[in-house]
Amino acid sequence: MNTGSDSGAHAPEHERMLVDVACGDLDGRAAAVRALRASCPRCAEELDALAALQSALDRDAAEEQAALAFGRAPLRALRASGAASAPRSTPSAWRRLAPLAAAAGLLALGVVGWRLWDRAQPAGTQGETPLGAEIRAVSPLDGGDSFERYEWLGELEPGDHFELSIHAAGAAPGTPPLFGPVRVGANSYTLRGVELPDAIRWDIERFDGSGMSQGSASTTVRRSPR
Ligand SMILES: [Zn+2]
Repeated sequence: MNTGSDSGAHAPEHERMLVDVACGDLDGRAAAVRALRASCPRCAEELDALAALQSALDRDAAEEQAALAFGRAPLRALRASGAASAPRSTPSAWRRLAPLAAAAGLLALGVVGWRLWDRAQPAGTQGETPLGAEIRAVSPLDGGDSFERYEWLGELEPGDHFELSIHAAGAAPGTPPLFGPVRVGANSYTLRGVELPDAIRWDIERFDGSGMSQGSASTTVRRSPR
């Protein structure tokens, strides 16, 4: 089968292959899937997401099987007595359905969801990082050498101010910042004497004179390797 894997770009055949993988309909094509993973970054990403989804489903299925096995004991007794024809709901049927459930989830989630999720991720090596409707990060961006100088674009109305705060990259919501929040009445701030890790998320928020938030945004940046 031509997977288009030598073209280097994501192709419609890839999507068909991904759906087959999702359906567990792979017979004898493991090598083709490996080739696809190696040649197409987008497919590699989707295959990883699929594997994660599949193992989550497998965990659920194991729990479901335990519950079914427990619940079937009375059904078996009924069947033995000829009082009922027990439903053919078996763990193996569930195991066949699980990949279909995964596929349905993928089709619903995948094409639109992953793209959206992708876009929601902190920017990689882009130019300017959009930070919301009116605020835009200028520096540092990903690969910035120094975490000393912070600059952003955004208008201040009279009485407004910005607040800058800096978190460890990936810090859970509600975690206190490593620095700030500090009030800033301009579009830049110079930070001195603060040790920061090699990956941070910096947040900038605009407040009006009565302390109401007028927009906020954040960007994650990594120091380039020295
Ligand atoms: Zn692809």
